[in-house]
Amino acid sequence: MDDPEEVEFAPPLPDNALAATVTFLAARGGLAPGYRTVPRSQATHAQLVITGLSGKPVSRRVELGEAEAWLAEVRALHARHATLDAADRTRTENIRQANEEVAAQISPTCPHCDVPREYVGRHHLMTAGAPEHLAASGEFFGRIRASAIVVEQYACPRCGSLELFRPLLPHPLPATQRPG
Ligand SMILES: [Zn+2]
Repeated sequence: MDDPEEVEFAPPLPDNALAATVTFLAARGGLAPGYRTVPRSQATHAQLVITGLSGKPVSRRVELGEAEAWLAEVRALHARHATLDAADRTRTENIRQANEEVAAQISPTCPHCDVPREYVGRHHLMTAGAPEHLAASGEFFGRIRASAIVVEQYACPRCGSLELFRPLLPHPLPATQRPG
């Protein structure tokens, strides 16, 4: 186990602090008054410098017990964040793998020609909002609300029929190829 004189901490920290430093202190020997920096194992006190959200460092001398309690809080906070980060990474990786498995099973085939459709690319389809709004309205262009739908587009090289996918899966699908 290392025996540091000073430890610096980065966020996450208690009370959303931006930075913190713990310095271990012991009373000076002999005639000199005051404290000096010592390894943790020799410390009788600690100096806790915490930079809060205001950006201004606030320094206070604390008993070792209080310093240890603060360190334990920081360790617990870091451990909790590490667990959450790992869980996030695992979830993201699971979704990616599941999407790849689904993509691997799909091969867009033209139902008219029975040949594989080719990947054309990602496109933005412009839409004019909900049709019932347009039908009920005399002022078509006043009411129109354009929005875009992103689609992955596949085309039959023989008859030109199209197949569209919302971009949930990785494209182009492994079973398809680009034209040319
Ligand atoms: Zn076709």
